[in-house]
This record gives sequence, structure tokens and C-alpha cells, in this order.
Amino acid sequence: MDTRQALVLFSGGQDSTTCLAWALDRFSRVETVGFDYGQRHRIELDCRATVRERIAAAFPAWGERLGDDHLLEIDVLGRISDTALTRDAEIALQADGLPNTFVPGRNLLFLTLAAALAYRRGMSVLVGGMCETDYSGYPDCRDNTMKAMQQALTLGTDRPFEIATPLMWLDKAATWELARRLGGDTLVDVIRQDTHTCYLGERGALHAWGHGCGHCPACELRARGYEAWMTGKQR
Ligand code: ZN
Repeated sequence: MDTRQALVLFSGGQDSTTCLAWALDRFSRVETVGFDYGQRHRIELDCRATVRERIAAAFPAWGERLGDDHLLEIDVLGRISDTALTRDAEIALQADGLPNTFVPGRNLLFLTLAAALAYRRGMSVLVGGMCETDYSGYPDCRDNTMKAMQQALTLGTDRPFEIATPLMWLDKAATWELARRLGGDTLVDVIRQDTHTCYLGERGALHAWGHGCGHCPACELRARGYEAWMTGKQR
């Protein structure tokens, strides 16, 4: 058991829920932080409480380590960024190849605010679901960006911050497998039923891979990963 305390950047989606389980398995105390920045859909934020409750109930040892949840309102980010996640627009690729769901500097801002919160509450590990493998090309998810940010936070606060990114080199199938390894079929079921990833904010029917519209980029990635994981398990 790592005696440090961790703060998980927790949106209520598949990736951050897997990160939460990873942190609860490893650190003596874990808190969660979410950010409300005027996303088009609040469903993901609403899933956060349900996921936390179900995990604490299903895994009592994790429940004992799970501390407070924090929700920070930063609607300024919605006001200064013009993206498909913060206004009513079609999801599409921009001329530079990045999807218009990209919110410039989002993860940098999240990590800075998370570090400020963690500093006050004696936590030194920030855990996030950033991933270079399946990612949409977001430059603020890259491992080099995280390493630079870790150094900036450590220097800028004079505290040894670590940014832990357990999903950085995993594809979506491997993320499902990590969840199964950490919490068995119970955790996989929580992720299927209670987490939310769909860009369009649809819950709808429960597919094998979870709820969602099934055709936005986030749903496609999640569904493809689940199918690849299932296929791999049957081999
Ligand atoms: Zn969708």
C-alpha cells in the first residue's frame, strides 16, 4: 500500500472510473475532483455520484479509502473556448486534424486546479485518464505534456507532485481488461451500466459496452474497445 494520498480527476466516464479503481487499489486515501465548465451535457457529471456509491458499496476496502468528492465550477473555460463540447455544433475534424471537441489547455487547467486543491488537502498524487494510444490527437493528453506538467507543478508549489496516468499506453480493450483485473466482473458491470462517455449525451438502451448513441466518436471508440476485449478473451 502506497501511503501517499491521491486525487483522481474523475468525470464519471469509463477511463476516469478505471483510474479511480486503480487509485483505490493502491493509495491509502483517495479523493475525487470533477470540473463543470459548461459541457453541453451534464449527464457525465451526474454519473459521478452513482459510480462512487456503487464502487464504495461493492468494494468495502475501497469504500473505506474513498474520501470526499469535489466539483469545481470553471465556466470561464466554456466562455473562452469555442468547441463542439461547449456549444451546439457538429463534431468534426478541424483543418489542423484535431477534432473540434478539443478544448485548448483543458487538461493543463484541470491539473493546475487539482494541484491547488491537493496541496491544501495534503495529497501529492494526481491521477488522470490521459492516454496516448487511442486518443484523438489531443496534445494535452500526451505523456511528454504530463511529464512537463508534473515538473511545473512540483517546481511551482515546492512539493513533490506526481501525475499518474495508468491508461497512458493502453488501448481501450486493455482499459477494459485493467478494470476486470482490478475489480472483476463487478467493476466491469459498474463501468458498463453507470459510466458515461457519449459525446451527444445520450443514455438510451444498454448495449454490451454501455449506454450511448453508438455512433459518435466516443461511443465508437468505447464499443470497438469492448468488442476487441471480448474477442481477445475468447481466444
Ligand atoms: Zn455517442
